Amino acid sequence: MDSLSIQRTAVVGAGTMGNGIAHVLALAGYDVALVDLNGDVLDAATSTIASNLDRQVDKDRIDADDRDRALDRLRPTPDTADGVADADLVVEAVSETQDVKQTVFAELDRHAPDHAILASNTSSISITGLAAQTERPEQVIGMHFFNPVPVMRLVEIVRGQRTTDATFEAVDELARDLGKEPVEVEDYPGFVSNRILMPMINEAVFCVMEGVAEPEDIDTVMKLGMNHPMGPLTLADFIGLDVCLDILEVLHGDLGDDKYRPCPLLRRMVTAGQLGRKTGEGFFPYDE
Ligand code: NAD
Repeated sequence: MDSLSIQRTAVVGAGTMGNGIAHVLALAGYDVALVDLNGDVLDAATSTIASNLDRQVDKDRIDADDRDRALDRLRPTPDTADGVADADLVVEAVSETQDVKQTVFAELDRHAPDHAILASNTSSISITGLAAQTERPEQVIGMHFFNPVPVMRLVEIVRGQRTTDATFEAVDELARDLGKEPVEVEDYPGFVSNRILMPMINEAVFCVMEGVAEPEDIDTVMKLGMNHPMGPLTLADFIGLDVCLDILEVLHGDLGDDKYRPCPLLRRMVTAGQLGRKTGEGFFPYDE
């Protein structure tokens, strides 16, 4: 199957990433069923997409007709079976928990048409492991978008052990059609992005713990010295310290190398509920 035959899509999980993925698919002309078990999340996702499209109209990036057509292509539903029933491509963006994702993949496999590609937006969970929950491992692939999805151009396309070239090419072409820059990566923990980013963030946290420098100064070093647009501790607060810890646990466990050992200070802050921007406090304070 090539991506020219991908027309109907479903996005399962309508949180931060799911609503962004639905936004870019609908804007590029694909029909999108947006699924979430939580009705409040579904309502919030629909209004977030509408207001983000409005912002693009205000900035003259798209016109009002593009916005209206994109909104017409969106179909929110709380029922996974109904949402994926006629999809050519399903993008899963539910919570980053292995058990939850494995259950969702088995469910998608039961309800999506036989020809459908099942993609996961996971940041760290094995695509090969998700594929093993299905009868179609050749049609399972990773599509790792970045937050905020309408703005960030990168998509890591992750080939599982049994992903076919046809599946890869269909998804690669679709990503380009969304205006993204796909990069092909193999299915190893953290792919490329988090394999490199998370150890850097972890090392910055060790620097805080050992008193090498103040958090603000650590970020200044990386911004001014390395030309990073955002320091690692500000980025960690933005991502969520709990999410960083979860990904480090996956790297540490699955690669079995102590160089990925999560910093005890990171663990302590997560235990204390200092998760970054979303709780108003991480390495830096935030106004709610
Ligand atoms: P989120 O918590 O904002 O959204 C997850 C949504 O999934 C929730 O709304 C929840 O109600 C829904 N959900 C849970 N179980 C479900 C099910 N069985 N069926 C349907 N919906 C279900 O999470 P997020 O930040 O959008 O992350 C989603 C995925 O994207 C994760 O795998 C995460 O690792 C990945 N990711 C996140 C980011 C990021 O910066 N937030 C970046 C790249 C990738």
